[in-house]
Amino acid sequence: MGNVGKKEKVLLPNGGYPMHTFEDLKSLYFPYIHDENGRKLIEKAYQVAEEKHKGILRKTGEPYIQHPIEVAYILAEHRLGPPTLASALLHDTVEDTDLTIDEIEKEFGEDVARIVDSLTKIQRMKLSHRTSVDFEAEDHRKIFLGMAKDVRVILVKLADRLHNLRTLDALSADRQKAIAQETLDVFTPIAHRLGIYQMQSEMEDLSLKYLEPEKYQEILTLLNKKEEHRQGSLISLQKRIADILFEHHIKFRMESRVKSIYSIYRKMYKKGYGFDEIYDVLAVRIICEKEMECYEILGIIHQTYKPIPGRFKDYIAMPKPNMYQSLHTTIISGDGNIYEVQIRTEEMDEVAEEGIAAHWRYKEGEGVKSAKEEQRDIEEKLHWFRDFVSMAGEEEESESAKEYVQNLSHDIFNANVYVFTPLGKVIELPTGSTVLDFAYKIHTKVGDTAVGASVNGVNVPLSTELKTGEVCEIRTAKNAPGPSSDWLDLVKTNSAKAHIRKYLQRKQNAGITSEEAEKKGKESLFEAFKQVGVASIEEMEEVLDNERIFDRFNVHSLNELYQRINLKNPAPFQVISALHLKRKKKFKLETPLTDDNSPVEVEGASNVLTSLAHCCTPIPGDEIIGYVSKGRGITVHRKNCPNIKGETSRLIPVRWKKQLQKRVYPVDARLFASDRSNLLADILSLLSSRSTKVSSLRANLVPGTVNVVVNLTLYVSDLSFLEDTFKALKGIRGVYDVSRIIH
Ligand code: MN
Repeated sequence: MGNVGKKEKVLLPNGGYPMHTFEDLKSLYFPYIHDENGRKLIEKAYQVAEEKHKGILRKTGEPYIQHPIEVAYILAEHRLGPPTLASALLHDTVEDTDLTIDEIEKEFGEDVARIVDSLTKIQRMKLSHRTSVDFEAEDHRKIFLGMAKDVRVILVKLADRLHNLRTLDALSADRQKAIAQETLDVFTPIAHRLGIYQMQSEMEDLSLKYLEPEKYQEILTLLNKKEEHRQGSLISLQKRIADILFEHHIKFRMESRVKSIYSIYRKMYKKGYGFDEIYDVLAVRIICEKEMECYEILGIIHQTYKPIPGRFKDYIAMPKPNMYQSLHTTIISGDGNIYEVQIRTEEMDEVAEEGIAAHWRYKEGEGVKSAKEEQRDIEEKLHWFRDFVSMAGEEEESESAKEYVQNLSHDIFNANVYVFTPLGKVIELPTGSTVLDFAYKIHTKVGDTAVGASVNGVNVPLSTELKTGEVCEIRTAKNAPGPSSDWLDLVKTNSAKAHIRKYLQRKQNAGITSEEAEKKGKESLFEAFKQVGVASIEEMEEVLDNERIFDRFNVHSLNELYQRINLKNPAPFQVISALHLKRKKKFKLETPLTDDNSPVEVEGASNVLTSLAHCCTPIPGDEIIGYVSKGRGITVHRKNCPNIKGETSRLIPVRWKKQLQKRVYPVDARLFASDRSNLLADILSLLSSRSTKVSSLRANLVPGTVNVVVNLTLYVSDLSFLEDTFKALKGIRGVYDVSRIIH
């Protein structure tokens, strides 16, 4: 059967984890790092860390160096490269020993120095704020990602946290709970987003063990019982599947997986399921070579076992946003047990377990890179995500995948900075934002009255660019000179620019009376209205004086609107463009056209161009309704015309004029008759005797019958004349129906 045995996590009999030596670590990375320089870098990092941490013991009692070795070991299990492993070994040296970043840069290069520097800053920031500030979990995640700048920093930090969790027993119960909670708030969501399932689920289970010890034990007991109970059933299921796949000559390996304790906990205590309702507690995973085989295997499984309806999911065609791909189905085995079956290729399995780490793997021969090269390298690795997006097709999932990639690169590459107020509130700003942006972000008034600032306790000018983690304080003064036009160059955010402009305009218009402001505002708005063909102020005001405009610009009267326009808030063009939307709905605002000959008048408006619809050919006497059509005035339909059914906003009441000019209107009609000789001649002579003009007439035999359909357009003066005409037509021998038609 299977070809590769998957390594299992080895636990010592006492439940503790094995401790590794540097030699163990070496034997882990030697098979994939052959490059001499790379190996030397790691070895030197170990020697320096060992020397610097010498004599220090961890709370657990062993030498401190044990911790960095284990962190590097976890990362080597994910096959990460020399700079990452060296950084892992050195990650606590700057914080805990006298080693400096400059020394690290000199000895290990820019790359390692930057990673260790970020890790140190993350560590420090947490310590300095832990007592005074209660972060929101979301803020904390953002700050962490904002400071990380490099995926490798995140990976080392996750490994660091994982090892700390494994050795949490040495700490007090309070600290255990605090660290476990922080892990669930900050680190496991990031691991999830990066798709590093292995680290995520181990960290979740360990955190739960400290936060909810009883529930953790309860689930563990339930699981053990269930496994015992199912042992035989599982083995026979696996055997059966293996036999069938062999018959089909499919190369595969198989694993069984117990759902993580934490995910069962979530289903039981957050979603209210009973333990027995959780179907996928036990999953069988089949790993094959090719994507096509996944579907083949699925077909074979469904042929053999009854699938539970609604449980099949194709994450191969539509991957999850964190890149996960697999087929999932839930089946009932021969003895009535329920199993989830996951089918995927080796490659998909790797991504499922290790996520982004799988794509961060060390590849031989890449050597040490400059900062610029490394940036390109990171971009390239992100390309993998982009390819993934384009592969996913145009489904909705791909939208979310695209968004995911955007957010990920956004977070990782630090498009934002996170700065603290003196009270510890986190303010998010785009990268490049200055102290003045910060002031306006806090409050417009703080920005308008700012006179100076300090960053981390040091006085700085308002133009100073801010960095993540800095604490910024703004000094304000009541009699501050206020914004000047050169402030526009000191800010990065559009919102700060808008506030400054508003202030400048207010200042410019200060000192004039409200009447003057109204007059000026009215004039400048009228100038703009002239451009779109409005001829008088009266006409403009007629258009403006409605609630929609007042609501839109948050004013209560025309005068208030004019005053605001004088402050360029809104600008005249904004009013015009707001009305443009309105125009589409009410023809009245369109360029006025007149039609004195129209038989129809629009209620509340004169001189409007109207035309009679060709589809239902209304005539005086018909019940009618107007339809406002773009650029063609109002089309008049019969009220029951199906072509305007469902319309509401574009309908407008219309009526026939009282005094109509004498004229005739076309009507489309259809006549049914049994065919006979001279039928058409009789019809035409009847219409002619009534002085009714006919512009078209077409007769067709109804296939397979002796009936004939006659379509004709005739001209009548009004509805009662038409009804008389119809009555007369029905009197013709052989004619049994005549009616108006609607196209
Ligand atoms: Mn550490």
